[in-house]
Amino acid sequence: ARARVVVVGAGFGGATCAKYLRQWGPNIDVTLIEPNDKFVSCPISNWVIGGLRSMDDITHGYDKLPRHGIKMVKDTVVAIDPAKRTIKTRGGASIGYDRLVLAPGIEILTDTVKGFKEAEAAGKVVHAWKAGAQTAQLRKQLEAMPDGGTFVMSVPTAPYRCPPGPYERACMVAHYFKQAKPRSKITLLDGNPDIASKKALFMDAWNTFYPGMIDYRPNNAPLAVDGGTMTVTTEFDAVKGDVLNVVPKQRAGELCALAGARNDSAGNWCTVNFATFESTTVPNVHIIGDSVLSSLPKSGHMATNMAKVCAAAIVELLAGRQPDPIPVVANTCYSATSGTTSGYVANVYRFEAGKGYVNQPEGGATGKGDELNFSYNASWAKNIWAEVLS
Ligand code: FAD
Repeated sequence: ARARVVVVGAGFGGATCAKYLRQWGPNIDVTLIEPNDKFVSCPISNWVIGGLRSMDDITHGYDKLPRHGIKMVKDTVVAIDPAKRTIKTRGGASIGYDRLVLAPGIEILTDTVKGFKEAEAAGKVVHAWKAGAQTAQLRKQLEAMPDGGTFVMSVPTAPYRCPPGPYERACMVAHYFKQAKPRSKITLLDGNPDIASKKALFMDAWNTFYPGMIDYRPNNAPLAVDGGTMTVTTEFDAVKGDVLNVVPKQRAGELCALAGARNDSAGNWCTVNFATFESTTVPNVHIIGDSVLSSLPKSGHMATNMAKVCAAAIVELLAGRQPDPIPVVANTCYSATSGTTSGYVANVYRFEAGKGYVNQPEGGATGKGDELNFSYNASWAKNIWAEVLS
């Protein structure tokens, strides 16, 4: 019988994995399950918030994937039985697998910020950390904000999706304010002690392009948000804003818990064997992308690299061969600092037994954004969307 692989979640990790499973294992039946009609990209979503791009620019169809021979199922997985090797969907389908790949991204822990859910339901606060309706909502709120208003944003404690993302967002909002509402301010409440990604790049941008506009407060995780008084409270501060963007802490997607692969002792992330991305706790279940606990950054680019290592390993395992014992992955992440400038961080990670993925010395980051990197940034996005979706 033909081997069956079910991939759940058609984001950066899952869609890429399904495609390469078919390319490298043409005899494997691959089913890809995803509830959403369209792929909405988090990369470049900060540009939408800053007014550089539209929602249309970051929204793409799944129509090209079936030509690889992937069977697409539009549904949500609601149960996983690792002993029987079956999954169940909300729509009532039961699908068996030999190997299962889970790529659900993150779950946002809205309960960790008191009042968040109520304020979110009332349209008074968004996280906009999953691209979609909240991205558009945040842009609208910024457009409606009076000149001289304050945008309050919070950064969750690490590990979280996209380490440089909050600081890029601050740049994009500042860029918009500089053009349209120059008397406005940004308060950035960071749950971490410092900017852990591309600090030199962001500090240079804030000082050069937006002097005096961004009030950065480290060690200041939000504890509560009040949509009535429009206040974010931390251990040290109570900050009022006209637009509130609180990004709560995160953990591996709920889907991983359905399989028993979300690890309480690992901060609610998933621990995997890094040569195959198979769960260390549930056999035949592989996890890729943001849900994985590792030394690798939680980025879309990295999710596509994990997807390829995982697909190659599954092809080998199903053929009864040994997977590559020392896979190498890479990450390139651009961040825009203004309407015309970007910088990057680029790293290569090599798997070492007993150590996991080790950052290789060749990597580096730009300390100053420029126009050439802005054009590379835009090209990177087009290329990765093509890689994932076509
Ligand atoms: P996702 O891409 O989130 O995909 C998960 C998919 O699983 C979703 O489509 C979801 O619908 C589906 N799913 C979940 N549960 C189920 C279920 N039960 N059944 C079926 N389907 C399910 N990365 C970069 O590389 N470069 C950048 O410039 C960049 N910028 C970013 C900017 C922002 C503001 C943010 C928030 C993130 C950014 N990222 C960037 C990070 C990037 O978006 C994530 O790392 C990436 O999306 C992770 O991929 P994933 O496959 O793990 O999850």
